[in-house]
Amino acid sequence: MAAILIAEDEARIASFIDKGLRAAGYATTIVGTGADALGHARTGAFDLMVLDIGLPGMDGYTVLQELRAAGSTTPVIILTARTSGDDVLAGLQGGADDYMRKPFRFDELLARIRLRLRDATLAAPPVLARGDLSLDTRSRRATVGDRVVDLSAREFALAEEFVRHPDQVLSREQLLSRVWGYDFDPASNVVDVYVRYLRGKLGAERIETVRGAGYRLR
Ligand code: CA
Repeated sequence: MAAILIAEDEARIASFIDKGLRAAGYATTIVGTGADALGHARTGAFDLMVLDIGLPGMDGYTVLQELRAAGSTTPVIILTARTSGDDVLAGLQGGADDYMRKPFRFDELLARIRLRLRDATLAAPPVLARGDLSLDTRSRRATVGDRVVDLSAREFALAEEFVRHPDQVLSREQLLSRVWGYDFDPASNVVDVYVRYLRGKLGAERIETVRGAGYRLR
């Protein structure tokens, strides 16, 4: 499930986008300031950001500029209430992938989000590698060195989540939401069980437990 960051300070608009995206099956996070938008986007935990230009503190242009300067290629769709074509141009030149002018229809935003997520998937290399672990996302084949490792579909999806976010601590809630598509269920230990399966197949030392925070691929 794709994770979308919504950076919008008007609660009514943020909630409108949030409800629609959740109904369409996306995991969402809302932030209301430029600094929070940048902080969240830089974690690399989001597949796409919807970014309002008029944010308090740091405006959307600056957020975008800093994000791209940090090397992030996360797709960004800017929202602008301004009517000048120059603002849109500045956004696109600053590294935005697309833009929407307020007010907008939700279905149009959704169509653009789907398009950008699809482009990002097509542009992504089919083989993901981290150390001696390789995942071929087309054939769904996993290898450690020269050894082919037999992973179930869910184990593969979990391994892929780790390899796509190297050196990041992924919380149980994030993994549950992205790999299983569930909202947080504090009673579930399914993530721990599957991490154990992966350790058994890929090597125990590969996935580190970060106490009280989650797991990290080494
Ligand atoms: Ca605003």
